[in-house]
Amino acid sequence: MKLTVLGSGTSVPHPKRSSPGFWLETSAGTILLDCSASAVHRMAQENLDWANLDAIWISHFHLDHCGGLAPFLFGTKHAPETQPRTKPMRVFGAAGLRGLVQKFSEANSYDLFKQPFPLEIFEVERLEKFEILSGVEAVASSTLHTAESHAIHLRERETTFVYTSDTGYDPTLAALARRVDLLLMECSFVKDKPVKIHLELPEAIRLIRRAEPKRTILTHLYPQWDAVNFQQEVTKLLPGREVLEAVDGLRISFPE
Ligand SMILES: [Zn+2]
Ligand SMILES: [Zn+2]
Repeated sequence: MKLTVLGSGTSVPHPKRSSPGFWLETSAGTILLDCSASAVHRMAQENLDWANLDAIWISHFHLDHCGGLAPFLFGTKHAPETQPRTKPMRVFGAAGLRGLVQKFSEANSYDLFKQPFPLEIFEVERLEKFEILSGVEAVASSTLHTAESHAIHLRERETTFVYTSDTGYDPTLAALARRVDLLLMECSFVKDKPVKIHLELPEAIRLIRRAEPKRTILTHLYPQWDAVNFQQEVTKLLPGREVLEAVDGLRISFPE
C-alpha cells in the first residue's frame, strides 16, 4: 500500500496544513480516507488520479472530514475527466451518510446522485466486516468522538493499516491497531488538551506502546504543534521507535 497525506491539519485554517484527506493506493484500487473541502484540490496538486478514485471512506460527519463530498461530487458531474467513467464510485461511512449526501444534494438542487457513473453509498455497522475494494477487507470500530465516528482497519493480503481519525483516548484502539504495518493516528494536541474527544501526545504514545505498530504517523495536528519540535517531543516520550509527523504531501509505502 502507499499513502499520500493530503491534509495533516484540522478544521482550523492553517497556511501549511490543510484539512483531513489521505489517498491510499492498494493493488485493488484507490481509497480516499476522509474528504475535506481542501482534499478535493489537494488530490490534483499531488497529481493523483482523482477521476478514477474507487472508494471514499468518511470517518465521521464533522465538516473537516466530509465537507468536500458535495464540491467533489459537484465537480465529477461536470469535469471532462469523469465523463467517460463507467465504473462505480463507492462512498462508505456510518449510518446517516446517505441522508447527509441527500441533504447536500437538495440544499440547492445540486443533483449530486446524478453522475456520469454509478454513485453507491454504503452505511456500515460497527465491527461489521466489509470489502471496501475487491480483496481489501475493512472493519470499522467506534471512537470516542461523535456518535457516528469510526476508526477503520484495512487488510490486503498480509498488509494491514489503521486510520483512527478523530478520537479521545480509548485502549480498544490499541487492540484494533495491534501490530499493523502502518497506524495513522490523530494527535490533535501536544499536551493539556482542552477537550476529551481528541488525543494529546502522551496518550498517543501510550496507544503506540500497547499497539506496537511497525510505523506510526501522527496527524490532525492543531496549531499548538507549530510551537514545538515534533521529533524532539516524540523522542522524549518514546525513544527508538519510528513515529512520523504528518505533513501535507508526505508519501509513504508500506510494509517496508
Ligand atoms: Zn477533525
Ligand atoms: Zn471530528
